Amino acid sequence: MFTKVEASRALSRAAMAYNATAQPPALEYAIAAKVYCTQACLEVTDTALQLFGGLGLTRDCPMEKLYRDARASLIEDGVNDVLALVGARRLLSATQHVQ
Ligand SMILES: Cc1cc2nc3c(=O)[nH]c(=O)nc-3n(C[C@H](O)[C@H](O)[C@H](O)COP(=O)(O)OP(=O)(O)OC[C@H]3O[C@@H](n4cnc5c(N)ncnc54)[C@H](O)[C@@H]3O)c2cc1C
Repeated sequence: MFTKVEASRALSRAAMAYNATAQPPALEYAIAAKVYCTQACLEVTDTALQLFGGLGLTRDCPMEKLYRDARASLIEDGVNDVLALVGARRLLSATQHVQ
């Protein structure tokens, strides 16, 4: 869990730092960060919820909301499946320009 959180933090900060100065900004970098970080967030909250057992699924426990929010993040601000397709197309097109 710690590794996933730290890897997500590193990738999102790197994308932010790169796009703060890149002209034009690399959308595929931001997409990679959104897709990776939200997926990692779901995995981490899933593991955390498991630690709480049945209590983790009840509304008395904050884990339930954290897990639900994590699941929503794969859909909001662009569905991850579609973002991955857009990012892949941009990467392929960048590769074709280099060749
Ligand atoms: C918590 C939350 C907050 C939100 N906040 C906002 C907000 O503030 N403002 C706002 O405007 N909207 C908001 N939304 C809406 C959100 O942007 C949409 O739910 C999102 O864009 C997905 O659209 P959809 O629900 O119509 O799903 P659809 O686009 O119908 O997608 C349904 C499924 O089909 C798949 N799919 C669709 N097209 C393709 C394709 N071409 N190739 C492969 N798979 C595909 C998707 O991956 C997904 O699994 C929010 C959603 C949530 C869950």
